[in-house]
Formats: sequence, C-alpha cells, structure tokens
Amino acid sequence: MKDNYDVIVIGAGPAGYAAAIRCAQLGMETACIDKSLGTDGKPVLGGTCLNWGCIPSKALLDASHKFAEAQHGFADIGIKVGKVAIDVPKMMERKDKVVAGLTGGIKGLFKGNGVDALYGSGKLLSGCEVEFTDHDGKVTKLQAEHVILAPGSVPVEIPPTPLTDDLIVDSTGALEFSSVPKRVGVIGAGVIGLELGSVWNRLGSEVVILEALDEFLPMADERIARDALKSMEKQGLDIRLGTRVTAAEVSGKTVNVTYQTKDGDESLTVDKLIVAVGRRPFTEGLLAPDSGVNLDERGYLYVNDLCATDASNVYAVGDVVRGPMLAHKGTEEGVMVAERIAGHKPLVNYDCVPSVIYTHPEIAWVGKTEQELKSSNDAYKVGAFPFAANGRALAGNEAEGSVKIIADAETDRILGVHVFGPQASEMVAQAVIAMEFDASAEDLGLTMFAHPTLSEAVHEAALGVAGHAIHMVNRKPKK
Ligand code: FAD
Ligand code: AMP
Repeated sequence: MKDNYDVIVIGAGPAGYAAAIRCAQLGMETACIDKSLGTDGKPVLGGTCLNWGCIPSKALLDASHKFAEAQHGFADIGIKVGKVAIDVPKMMERKDKVVAGLTGGIKGLFKGNGVDALYGSGKLLSGCEVEFTDHDGKVTKLQAEHVILAPGSVPVEIPPTPLTDDLIVDSTGALEFSSVPKRVGVIGAGVIGLELGSVWNRLGSEVVILEALDEFLPMADERIARDALKSMEKQGLDIRLGTRVTAAEVSGKTVNVTYQTKDGDESLTVDKLIVAVGRRPFTEGLLAPDSGVNLDERGYLYVNDLCATDASNVYAVGDVVRGPMLAHKGTEEGVMVAERIAGHKPLVNYDCVPSVIYTHPEIAWVGKTEQELKSSNDAYKVGAFPFAANGRALAGNEAEGSVKIIADAETDRILGVHVFGPQASEMVAQAVIAMEFDASAEDLGLTMFAHPTLSEAVHEAALGVAGHAIHMVNRKPKK
C-alpha cells in the first residue's frame, strides 16, 4: 500500500472493480478498497454480484432447473430416468466453488493489472483524502487525485419481518438453506423474489409469493408479464398479488405470516420466509461530514449523467447511484468514469440497459414497453413472433413464449425489444446491439440469421413489424 494514488476506488463489486481495472489499464496508480468478508471470514472481492447476488443465484437457478428437467422434462422427450434425488449440500458446495473461482479471478485481475487491493473500510474525507481502516482496526490516511465511490446496495428490511438467524432471511440467507424447506414464503414478486422462489419451488418446496402490488412485474411489457405469470403459476408458484405483509411471528421452527388483502387479513405458516422487498443504496460509514458528496432524497449518492458527485474529482457508480440496480449498468459506469478521468469522452447509454429475470423461461427486455409508449402518446408499431413457430425451440422442447419488437411508427427505429422464452438473456443482447447502432426494424429484418436458431424469432418479429414475417400469418394492418 502506498499513501498516494492517482485513483482510489471504494467498493470492489462489478462497478468498483471494473473502474479500478480500467484505471490501471489506462496507466493510473490505483487502489481498490473493499470490506467484504466471505463465509470463512476471509476478505473477498467481487461485491454482492459475485458473492451473494448474480452468480450464486444463477448457480442455484441452473442446478434447480436441471433437477426439474430431470424430474418432469426428460420424459416428454423420450428419456426415462429413475428416481431423481437432490443433494442440497453438494449443490451449495458447487455454487460456493463457482463463487470462489470468480472472486479469486478478480484478485488475479487486480494483480495482473497492478491494482492494489486494500482489504478493509474506506471513508471519504475532504479533498480526495481517504481514511482506510483494515480488518485489524489499523487506520491509514491515503491521498488520491480522484476517488470513485462504489459501495453498492444492501437488502431492504421491513419492520413487520425482522430477520432471524435462519427462519426469516433475506436474499443472502435464501442462497444458503441446507435442505429443501417444505413451505417457503417469499415477500415481494420482484426479480429477486421470483428467482429465489423459482429455485426452491423447483427443488420441491411449496412456494407462496406475497406481493403488495396488484400488478405483476409492472416494469416489464404488459403482455410478456401476463404470459410469464401464467407460466410461473403453471410451474407451481403460488403468486398472490395485492397482498401486503403486515406481521411475521416465529413459533418454534415455523413462521406465521399475516398479510392484508382487499378482503381483509389472512395468514400463512411457512418453514422459511424470504424477504425480497428490494435493495437500498449502502452509504453507512462512507462519507465524512465535510466530504462534499451529497445524497438525493431517496438516499442515493447524488451524481450527474457522467457519475460526477458534488465534490470535485469524486465520482460514484453502480447500485449506490440512480438507475437500475444491475451489475452491468454499474460496470459500464465504472469504465466510463475511468476513461473520463483519463481524458476520453465515453457515455453510458441509459436507454439501452438490458433487464433479465432468470426464471424459466427467462424474461428479458431492453428499451421501452408498449404501455410506456401508450402513456406518452408516442406512435409505434409492433411485431411479435411466438417460439411455438420456431423450429429450434420446438426441437428443444422449449416452445413457450414470444419475441416482441416495438418500433417508431414513422422512422421504424427500434424502441424496445421484449423476450419471454428460452435463453431470452442471450437473445436480448442482439437487440441491445441493434439499438446501440440505432437500427430500424427493417435493418434487423434484412439481416441474415442462421437456421435453425432461437434468434430467428427475433428476425421474424422484426419482419412482423412491417407485416411480412414468413413463418406466421401476419395480421392485416388496421384500416
Ligand atoms: P456491490 O456489488 O454491492 O459491491 C459493493 C462492495 O463495496 C461490497 O463488497 C461492499 O462490502 C463494499 N463496500 C461498501 N461500502 C464500503 C466501504 N465504506 N469501504 C469498503 N468497502 C465498502 N444484477 C444483475 O445485473 N444480474 C443479475 O442476475 C443479478 N442477480 C442478483 C441476484 C441477487 C440475489 C442479488 C441480491 C442481486 C442481484 N443483482 C443482479 C444485482 C447486482 O448484484 C448488483 O446490481 C451489483 O452487485 C451492484 O454492483 P456494485 O458494484 O454497485 O455494488
Ligand atoms: P424489487 O424492488 O423489484 O426487488 O421488488 C420488491 C417487491 O416487494 C415490490 O414489488 C414491492 O411491491 C414488494 N413489497 C414491498 N413490501 C411488501 C410487503 N410488506 N408485502 C408484500 N410485498 C411487498
């Protein structure tokens, strides 16, 4: 550790570690401070995403999907399997191994790029000075030319459901169950609630998801959300909309949950309760009173479009600033800030941030929804194509869902792409690229796609915008 750096980054999640690596690549002396400790008590890099978020959840989603396929899906395609059993400790061990490999990978990337990893807490003082406290409590003052704040977010806790050691848990706890609970309650039908609910439902738990809103996935395209809700209910998820949890009482090894519905109070007894009601920016201990950095009214660090805070040469990126709490959004911000410090002029295109829900089928989208365009009175046209008419999806026994493309009525510029179906997370990438290049639906329609691929559904939906999809009967435009 030196006492003077070009750049000090606080937080080594996807926003902070990407910023640190890019700064070092650009020739700046860089340190990255992170205080996270792994389950073994040792310092870990990678933040929420690698340790308690994207990666462990996807490891369990993938394993549980394979288990569900072996149980129910294989027979449909002519594969008989005997009794399929689940080994939760082994599943968790594999998940932990994947996490360890990736967090160790960040350590290697720091070393390879010359970033100093400082394990402990960072606090921003005035004038780009940073107070670093290591895990033994030793305090060192460090000076930097520039500081990038990337402290991330933590789960929201609500008063009716205080967390307990192992009965009422947040998303982190829900990634660590040592056996399959018989009954699981999930509060919140957002992305995290649906993903974690799906994991335990596939592994055999009876899962009830309680959601205060009357609408399912209001941020997704209405049609896609409707189809997804039906599909998830068919898979056995009991999703109760318009139900606000008001109390949870632990009684022995179970939890009694009380919730309000339009018809009055109801209750439910579960063996585990997962609280998945959102995340909040984490700024505890981050700022000295005279740091010069301000918070907005919702507790996020206030930044402009270029992620600059109100303090000179101090930036903030990732979950701690406005915008969707997504790893890739933070990474892009981190890289943008590093490049701006080096004098380059990149921008983050906030109109092209893809969102994915890793249920099965997956839900993925980028850009505007149809309801957004309706409410802003923008004229648009739509092309949609069902996977039920896509050869590859049928061959793979995964023909549920559809692709929908929304384009400007006049210019044909693509405004939004919505996919509910197999590998939607991968397919949405082509929509993001098209939109980054300002493509029209016609551009996508004129592009050649390999056959047979799931991506052909994107091609056909693009052709459908102009009413000439080949593999479905096009609707006549309204006269
Ligand atoms: P974080 O990853 O939260 O990292 C911040 C780091 O800073 C942490 O290690 C923290 O300990 C450290 N820190 C904070 N304050 C200090 C301080 N003062 N000093 C030193 N260190 C400090 N996003 C996706 O895009 N795709 C997904 O599939 C996805 N799945 C998710 C699943 C779950 C269960 C959860 C919980 C989240 C998921 N997310 C997903 C969200 C994603 O994890 C976050 O958007 C992402 O991690 C945010 O990155 P970040 O770098 O801003 O912060
Ligand atoms: P997200 O912010 O996308 O992770 O979603 C969290 C969800 O939790 C939101 O849809 C909220 O409406 C929901 N929620 C928050 N508090 C409660 C509550 N007390 N009972 C039921 N649902 C809740």
